[in-house]
Amino acid sequence: MVSLTKETPMTDMTAGLAPWIRDTSLLCESGDFPGDGRLAVRDPASGALVAQVAMSDAIGARAAVDAAHRAFEGWAQMLPQKRAQILHRWHDLMMAAKEDLARIMTAEQGKPIAEARGEIDYAASFVQFYAEEALRPNIEGVTSHLPDAEMELWREPVGVAALITPWNFPCAMITRKAAAALAAGCTVVIHPSAETPLSALALSQLARRAGFPDGVISTVIGDAATIVGEWTADVRVRALSFTGSTEVGKLLYRQSADTVKRLVLELGGHAPFIVFPSADLDRAVAEAIKAKFATSGQDCLGANRFYVHRDVYDAFCTKFAAATAALTMGHGHDNPDIGPLINERAIEKQRAQVADAIAKGARLLTGGAVDDSHGPLFFKPTVLADVPDTADIMSQENFGPVAPVTVFDTEEDVIARANATEYGLVAYVHSQDPRRIYRMTRALQFGMVAVNRTKVTGAPIPFGGTKQSGLGREGARQGLEAFTDIKYVCRDWG
Ligand code: NAD
Repeated sequence: MVSLTKETPMTDMTAGLAPWIRDTSLLCESGDFPGDGRLAVRDPASGALVAQVAMSDAIGARAAVDAAHRAFEGWAQMLPQKRAQILHRWHDLMMAAKEDLARIMTAEQGKPIAEARGEIDYAASFVQFYAEEALRPNIEGVTSHLPDAEMELWREPVGVAALITPWNFPCAMITRKAAAALAAGCTVVIHPSAETPLSALALSQLARRAGFPDGVISTVIGDAATIVGEWTADVRVRALSFTGSTEVGKLLYRQSADTVKRLVLELGGHAPFIVFPSADLDRAVAEAIKAKFATSGQDCLGANRFYVHRDVYDAFCTKFAAATAALTMGHGHDNPDIGPLINERAIEKQRAQVADAIAKGARLLTGGAVDDSHGPLFFKPTVLADVPDTADIMSQENFGPVAPVTVFDTEEDVIARANATEYGLVAYVHSQDPRRIYRMTRALQFGMVAVNRTKVTGAPIPFGGTKQSGLGREGARQGLEAFTDIKYVCRDWG
């Protein structure tokens, strides 16, 4: 792999780049097992070419599994203390390189630099958490049901794990999977999104410096269907962990059936954000802004629809629209509130969902169009009121900065409408009434329920959804499950 360091600058890749990205020490031009193809990585804010990355192909994808398979026994048998040490070193290197990693992320993904820095902290926290989990007991006793026999459950790593990640959290989605798999004793092959390969390459460069043995982590860039198709067909790949759209998740679920892989699927969401009359309205508005507009709205946890009780509906709409209109936009490097969307397809989706909602009777309170003064991928933060349940945005993922608000009258009504979705990732509830909160928490069919706040995820909690939002959990002790099998051992001393 060729790395662009301050000592060995490659002018063809860094020429024309702004100094704040050119001077980072972690820009790489290829992943593991590169082929001849080149992938252009562009800054979504300006359209500028950030880097050309060498692409791999089916042969490279197979070679990565060969290497991971060869490395597996050694890694699985290594003392957990030693594995933990390497993971801790990876964490420390990430924290030391936080500014460079954040700049690379903002350059290719577009998110405001403060959010990028926050994501590096979040990403590194999984590595630290699982370094510690690697040391927990992996043998559990069982109370015997047979005379003279003793019984144990051994947790053993499954083998090679394939990790497939999206562009909206280019570092955290990798470490949330990789740290758990590596701590469990699996070796990993990683395929990041074509939109954000540089963050993945920077993490893999730091992993090499941390001392992971050859083959334990490989990052393979290229055509997704080709590379991941090789991995789903390969019997040596025993686990597959995917974060991305429900559509691709279902495809990989089907493709993994023939080899019966362990699966984790973290898919789409369609979060309801529900405000009751007893809520602290200013706090609800402040949390609504975070829940909707963080990562420019491109977050699977993003609030996708707002249900507000009639008693506070007008007041909420007025305050929410004013706070939204005050948000700043710009290049992520200048740390605005909102950056660009990832590509033209994302912009088209915003336009289509706004037009559809207005055609069905919604009122535009603010935003509603591209802001040309910044560039073609900047969509103004938008609030729509009186949006009917039949509008597309009330059932389809928005994944952008458009907030549809609607009114409700009764608890029963809002529960039925909130649950009327195939998604089940997260739901937000604002109320000061403990009994109401208890009833709502029980009734909402979501993997996560957040009451009176927005940011609730972290390494110690099991992240994941119900229904078509996915299978399995990431983070916490539960995050190790897909990467381990249970071996039941019975020893008869009679
Ligand atoms: P995506 O499904 O298009 O891509 C995700 C990954 O799958 C990428 O690495 C991509 O290269 C790969 N991929 C695409 N087509 C493939 C194919 N035919 N075969 C194999 N692999 C393929 O999703 P995206 O646009 O990158 O991300 C946005 C989606 O991710 C949203 O739906 C969002 O809700 C979801 N998401 C979910 C979570 C979660 O934890 N639940 C977190 C972040 C994003």
